[in-house]
Amino acid sequence: MSNPPDLKEFTLPELEQLMTIWGHPPYRARQVLKWVYKGVNDFEAMTDISRAFRQELARRAYLSDLRIDREQVSRDGSRKYLLALEDGNCVESVLIPEEGHYTLCLSTQVGCALGCRFCATARRGLVRNLTAGEMLNQILTVRRHFTGDWPITNLVFMGMGEPLANFPALVRALTMITAEWGLNFSPRRLTVSTAGLAPLIPRLGQEARANLTVSLNAPDDETRSRIMPINRRYPLETLLQACRDFPLPRHRRVTFAYVLLKGINDAPAQARQLARLLRGFRAKINLIPLNAYGDVPFEPSPEDRVLEFQDILRQANYTVLTRESRGQDIQAACGQLLGERE
Ligand code: SAH
Repeated sequence: MSNPPDLKEFTLPELEQLMTIWGHPPYRARQVLKWVYKGVNDFEAMTDISRAFRQELARRAYLSDLRIDREQVSRDGSRKYLLALEDGNCVESVLIPEEGHYTLCLSTQVGCALGCRFCATARRGLVRNLTAGEMLNQILTVRRHFTGDWPITNLVFMGMGEPLANFPALVRALTMITAEWGLNFSPRRLTVSTAGLAPLIPRLGQEARANLTVSLNAPDDETRSRIMPINRRYPLETLLQACRDFPLPRHRRVTFAYVLLKGINDAPAQARQLARLLRGFRAKINLIPLNAYGDVPFEPSPEDRVLEFQDILRQANYTVLTRESRGQDIQAACGQLLGERE
């Protein structure tokens, strides 16, 4: 007999179908999922379900879980969770306090195949994709463990991995997160960040609902290919056309992230080039100071360079945010997630 199904991988319609196959009325599916999305991981605790049915579920089905292997708290209040998956691999999620709410940063893969030169996760190569249930479990596990005074209202797919390289599981997870039978999050509070798997960008907008961030990091193909090998496959023109084809809801904007690397992509001329490149876009630009790890082969831009870069873009009428680095002291900031036990 095959393994019992993990109900965390099911959408409501799929679970209704399974209930029917098992000879139960479809409404049972909704009843079970209500508990699952509350964070209950034990069929016995589903107290409005009859004892006989709870026992049948425990026999025929299963609810996967993650184990918190380590929690680190930053001076700025960010928390990094090293989460052990059931096969022993680990990923990291980062909980970031903001004014009156938390943002949770989620991983989509163990490691990453893209090889961006400035990113720690790339060092590991790709170990494997996460399932949708494992993405969901990051939220459920952190929420169960951390009961702060503020709610987790925002989710960003900016942890380990390239979300679009794990497209079907990502779309399934986004469905579970936004569905009324699921976590019921507003899609406006979800953001998927991509290093630029161009063909999947418009599809993301068609098959799911979330905000789009593109990690641009350079204004020309030569520089970008040097630091992000994916640019050789999908150069800037292809990437930006894909962003234009992303079905952007009214009043929404695409965010372009840009890690500033001293002497590589931080010259005033490059800021002007970036301003030209993004002309006509409803764009927001997020400048990110380089976060160090191990022997990262780059240096952060000096502060006056960052300010000058920012000013040039602002003068060109872009909304520019210089993202403050959170959780650096615990290696929880952008590009620092390795997901390994020490
Ligand atoms: N693979 C996706 C999701 C990860 S988001 C993507 O690349 O968008 C992680 C963000 O951190 C990206 O914008 C990336 O450019 C940035 N980043 C990677 N390494 C970094 C580092 N060392 N310092 C600062 N930002 C970094």
